[in-house]
Amino acid sequence: MTTHTGGCQCGTVRFEITSAPILAYCCHCTDCQQQSSSAFGISVWFPGSAFRLTSGMLKTWVTQGESGNQKSCTFCPDCGTRIYHAFPDESDTFSVKGGSLDNIKDITPIAHIWTKSAQPWLKARLTAEHCFEIEPDDFEGLITQFNKL
Ligand SMILES: [Zn+2]
Ligand SMILES: [Zn+2]
Repeated sequence: MTTHTGGCQCGTVRFEITSAPILAYCCHCTDCQQQSSSAFGISVWFPGSAFRLTSGMLKTWVTQGESGNQKSCTFCPDCGTRIYHAFPDESDTFSVKGGSLDNIKDITPIAHIWTKSAQPWLKARLTAEHCFEIEPDDFEGLITQFNKL
C-alpha cells in the first residue's frame, strides 16, 4: 500500500494518506494564485477516505470555486498553510495542495489548467501536451493518462 505523508509549514499539522494519487495537475486560476500567494497551485487528488490527520487540527473555510461549486478549504490554524480542498456536492475526492506533501517531487503533474490566467512569463514556457485554457470538460481522460505515468 502506498502511503504519502505531509504537513504544514509550522509542523503542527501532519497527515498521512494510504493511497496512490488519483490525479495531479497545476492550476493557474486566479483563486489558486491568490490562495498559494504564488504563480499557480498544485492539485493532487486522493480518495478522501484515505486521508488521516496524525497531528494537529484543521480549520475549514468554505468558498465557491471558479466553477460555481462549493469548496471546503482546510488549513493549519496556526500557520495558515492550506492542506486540501474538498467538494461536498461531488465525490469523496480531496484535492491535496501539492506543496504540503513530503514527496511532491515524486509526483509529476499531468496537465496545466486555466492557462488563460497563467502569469505571462510562465505561459510562454507552458508547452506541455496537456494544457487547457480553462478546465477540461471532464477529468476522466487525464486520470487515465496520469495512471499510465
Ligand atoms: Zn502549521
Ligand atoms: Zn485553481
